[in-house]
Amino acid sequence: MRATIGIDIGGTNVRAARIGADGVVQDRRARPSLRDGEGCLRLCREMVAELRDETVAAIGVGVPGQVDFASQRVLSGGYVDLSTLPFAERLAQETGLPVTLDNDANMALLGEVAQGAAKGLAHVVLLTIGTGIGGAILDHGRILRGRGVAGQLGHLTVVPEGRDCVCGKRGCTETESSGTAFGLHLAEAGLPAGTRAEALLARGDAVAERVLHRWAAPLRGAIDTLIATLSPEAVIIGGGAGAAMVAALGRVPARRSWFHAPVLGAGLGDDAGVIGAAVAARPKGRRAVLVNGVPASGKSGVAQAIAAATGWPILSLDTVKNPFLVELAPVDRLMNRTLGRAAYRSIFDLTAQFAPDATVIIDAWFGFQPPEVLQAGLAAAGITEVRQIWCHAPPETIGARYAARVATRPAGHPGLDYVPELVALATRARPLDGYPSHEVDTAAPLDRDALMRFLA
Ligand SMILES: [Zn+2]
Repeated sequence: MRATIGIDIGGTNVRAARIGADGVVQDRRARPSLRDGEGCLRLCREMVAELRDETVAAIGVGVPGQVDFASQRVLSGGYVDLSTLPFAERLAQETGLPVTLDNDANMALLGEVAQGAAKGLAHVVLLTIGTGIGGAILDHGRILRGRGVAGQLGHLTVVPEGRDCVCGKRGCTETESSGTAFGLHLAEAGLPAGTRAEALLARGDAVAERVLHRWAAPLRGAIDTLIATLSPEAVIIGGGAGAAMVAALGRVPARRSWFHAPVLGAGLGDDAGVIGAAVAARPKGRRAVLVNGVPASGKSGVAQAIAAATGWPILSLDTVKNPFLVELAPVDRLMNRTLGRAAYRSIFDLTAQFAPDATVIIDAWFGFQPPEVLQAGLAAAGITEVRQIWCHAPPETIGARYAARVATRPAGHPGLDYVPELVALATRARPLDGYPSHEVDTAAPLDRDALMRFLA
């Protein structure tokens, strides 16, 4: 995989970096932000020209404000307003590179998941505490978008009769717990402007504690609500005032509750946005979960458990093949194998028509064809990431399961005389080499958590 350029457009600075496929920042730039859309576009174009080399395949841009990801348009801007021009389209035209645009908090979350405090997690909530409050939600490894701009966590109502917010509501997280709100709490307490949260944390007197409580308690409420609503593995707090907020939240401990998730400080600091934008820009590929094992090894139950938890479609070799066995009956063993090969090809042909970033569960005994056939199929289907679930059970158990279901299968599947051969096959069968693998003993109760952790 090749390098990408990540750009993070902030109110103060525009940061850009060329980042390798390994996640290493190879080169970077930062310039003061420009408020107007055309000026900001020119700035991005210049920074891309400076960072670009022959390895750069695409550009990702994180922007403040609401972004409709599907149309790649900025819907509303704050200090830097990019809603007045087709920013992504223009940058793509002017650089000749594909451009992926998203809200800056979504980009920061992708960065933290790729390389930061949420590395490897699939269910994460991010809150960025700065001038305002940004938010982003990762659900099953994907940014939650609702009908467009889900995740505006700066506008959760936390104080029903609170201050007026720019969004039109009152008492939002942003009006109570942002960096700006901290200044207001200071003023209300009669403390000098510019007093830092760290200084209040060190003081510990009643006035300081009241300011910290007023600042952090509404966010604690928002975090508790988010945990109960979304059941994340972690809540990450980032942004310029993120570290201070994590410390202030220590003054408002979570109550013991049915609902719990760790609250962690962000790991990448100012780099989260550019790293996430570079990750978002990477060419997408499809993902396949190969549920592998000999016939009657319990694959379909495992595939169904994964599908139930994720919503990913299952393509099962038997499901594709069986209607042909029925229509072409009687079918001998040679024809059964021929249909098996055709069904195998169909699975990859179908997958090639799925969304470019789709994940598909493929339920098959992959040992019936040479690995080169699988590799060719994966390539033809645009599958760039593969995980294998190896299903096994004691060979006698597999033989007994096969014997028990012979009567219910379409004619053309081998009959009872196949059982000794299957038991011998189960004794020597091994998973495919070269793919990350997770073993499931289907004679034991399924450990769904371990399975889903592997697939996260
Ligand atoms: Zn609001």
